[in-house]
Amino acid sequence: MELGQRAGAPGPAAPSDAAAGSGQAAASGPAVAASLAGRTDEEFRAEIRGWLAGNLTGEFAGLRGVGGPGREHEAFEGRLAWDRHLSAAGWTALSWPAEHGGRGVTISQQMIFHEEYARADAPARVSHLGEQLLGPALIAFGTPEQQRRFLPAIASVAELWCQGFSEPDAGSDLASIATTARLAGGHWEVTGQKVWTSLADVADWCFVLARTAPGSQRSSGLSMLLVPMRQPGVTVRPIRQLTGTSDFNEVFFDGARADADLVLGDPGDGWKVARYLLGVERGAATFGRQIQFRREFDDIVAQVRRGRCDPALRQKIARAWVGLEVLRACALQTLAAAGRPGADAGTEASVVKLLWARWHQALGELAMDVAGARALVARAKPDELDAWQRLYLFSRADTIYGGSDEIQLGIIASRALGLPREPTPAPAPAPAPGRP
Ligand SMILES: Cc1cc2nc3c(=O)[nH]c(=O)nc-3n(C[C@H](O)[C@H](O)[C@H](O)COP(=O)(O)OP(=O)(O)OC[C@H]3O[C@@H](n4cnc5c(N)ncnc54)[C@H](O)[C@@H]3O)c2cc1C
Repeated sequence: MELGQRAGAPGPAAPSDAAAGSGQAAASGPAVAASLAGRTDEEFRAEIRGWLAGNLTGEFAGLRGVGGPGREHEAFEGRLAWDRHLSAAGWTALSWPAEHGGRGVTISQQMIFHEEYARADAPARVSHLGEQLLGPALIAFGTPEQQRRFLPAIASVAELWCQGFSEPDAGSDLASIATTARLAGGHWEVTGQKVWTSLADVADWCFVLARTAPGSQRSSGLSMLLVPMRQPGVTVRPIRQLTGTSDFNEVFFDGARADADLVLGDPGDGWKVARYLLGVERGAATFGRQIQFRREFDDIVAQVRRGRCDPALRQKIARAWVGLEVLRACALQTLAAAGRPGADAGTEASVVKLLWARWHQALGELAMDVAGARALVARAKPDELDAWQRLYLFSRADTIYGGSDEIQLGIIASRALGLPREPTPAPAPAPAPGRP
């Protein structure tokens, strides 16, 4: 992912503009959307399978298998056009309720969509942070004005979002957030630094966790602000990764402005909104990716079938297949439990996150076993890696982003098992006078 510093005011396109440049969109849009109501699962599957087969053609044909974690730099403009094409045909915001512009499809139909999407090798989405993370939070916590302002632009892929939580001294210990925001002259002024901000270089907006109550400590006094990225007070710098690419960035807010009413939830209630968002990020928002895992697994199995397979490798592959089946069952169970009274979505999401992150890392190691010595050599330049090499390297990040493994285990220890809490870290000592 290439990075550019952003400047200038945000200019949201009208939803109807979103599919501009996609000649196929208009014909397939409303007709598909209207026809889905009351479809059985089989009919739904046939509908999405047929639509993907008929639309991953022409200008979109070259996008098959493109993009995704570790490869966000690939064909960005083409993937953006594809996302808008999907939207125009009514295939975005599937899980949102109809009254918020979503499709309100059933849980099994959401899974079917992901399965068919992966099966067709359709490109990785570029608008997922808005649709899958912020969208549900806007529906849960947003004012009617905020919902009207932002949801249509997310669903139509007119505006892209990024997530501004982590800071240099606030990652696992998110409550240490130091970015501040104060109300001045009818708007918030945001000052501080975020880090590891995925897709910040292409985002129009960022949902930013900031300290709005001066002098507040830990999780109190935080607010979730909706901050435009394209303004002079925002600077974005890429971070180069082990894969040689830049999927994420540093973001500097230097008096960046957001209108006074752009707080999601009440001012001071940011921790509640952040926890909700993290639950979505660790659970439901990962199911599409988990289904992509099957494609990676099938690719490895296909390779092994063509050659020799020693008994130890057979065991590893069988074990990976069992893990994949467990993930699928878990995903269905979590989706079914969403919204059930008494369900602890946060704990369930931590279990799901632990399972898929470890499984996926093990798959990367399995891919290296199967590739053998050739896995050690890059194709041409140091950055030109094949799919398995990228899988292996990028899956190192799986047990970190969305909250590290240790943090998920801590949540399960406290919330599922009622074990005594870890001691809260002491606040950092104030610097001595006269020293930076
Ligand atoms: C690919 C990728 C994309 C990301 N995208 C975003 C994004 O878009 N927006 C965003 O805000 N953030 C993003 N992040 C940041 C991510 O959320 C953080 O990296 C993560 O929360 C860990 O924080 P940290 O990196 O500061 O590590 P630290 O918190 O410094 O942790 C370092 C190590 O110490 C361990 N540790 C820390 N605390 C404890 C404890 N209490 N008990 C036991 N062990 C502990 C951790 O498990 C970890 O192994 C992304 C990260 C990655 C890798």
